[in-house]
Amino acid sequence: MAEKDLSQGTLVLVNRDHAYDPELPQTVSVFDKKTQSYFVKDKILSLREDTADALNQWMDAFAAESGKTDVNIVAGWRSYDTQVRLYQNAVNNKGQEYADAYLALPGCSEHHTGLAVDLDTYNIEDGTSGGFDGEGAYAWAVEHAWEYGFIQRYPPEKSDITGIDYESWHFRYVGLPHAYIMQAENLCLEEYIDYLRNYSFSGEHLTVTCLGTSYALYYCPKGQMIVPTSGSYTISGNNVDGFIITIRKP
Ligand SMILES: [Zn+2]
Repeated sequence: MAEKDLSQGTLVLVNRDHAYDPELPQTVSVFDKKTQSYFVKDKILSLREDTADALNQWMDAFAAESGKTDVNIVAGWRSYDTQVRLYQNAVNNKGQEYADAYLALPGCSEHHTGLAVDLDTYNIEDGTSGGFDGEGAYAWAVEHAWEYGFIQRYPPEKSDITGIDYESWHFRYVGLPHAYIMQAENLCLEEYIDYLRNYSFSGEHLTVTCLGTSYALYYCPKGQMIVPTSGSYTISGNNVDGFIITIRKP
């Protein structure tokens, strides 16, 4: 695996200490792919295909459960130039303190990965936005997000670690079993990436069963990649110093 592969995969850690600067991720228009269970802001908004597929499943399940189809996806992939513009607008309009609390420094936005979405709600009667606080009928979507591979990336109790204040609306796709482990162990992504370093190829693997499938995980420092000789597995860089190998057990 090459250095650039560190920024490939669903477990990349992107924050103010770890910028994301790969070639553009391959994204698809959410409008073109989406089901009827939710809205999307415009035809341009895009996500990585795995994230868009998982979003469809998540929103379909939420609509089936709640009868609500008014979630509106208002942010997906963001280019570097867009990040610069958003950050400058926030500084100009709301001040430096607000910008630093709520916006990523350009190059450090998770939206750059195509793995992050911002949820809002859309009032079809008058076209207004209702925000997404994750409460009331929407609590189901938050509680069950992990089943579809999503995590609430900036929980209130982790803002010291994430460097971002609570964002009830921002979800990040990490896939399974990662989203399951993170919610079960109450780990934000920074903590999870650290936690995975406890498991190595030659040592103990992290084993877990979720939604009927068993997995074994381990971490390899970059330059020391060891992969299984057979079976089904995925590799993700952590965008810091190594790779996570996730083996799906038969
Ligand atoms: Zn966001």
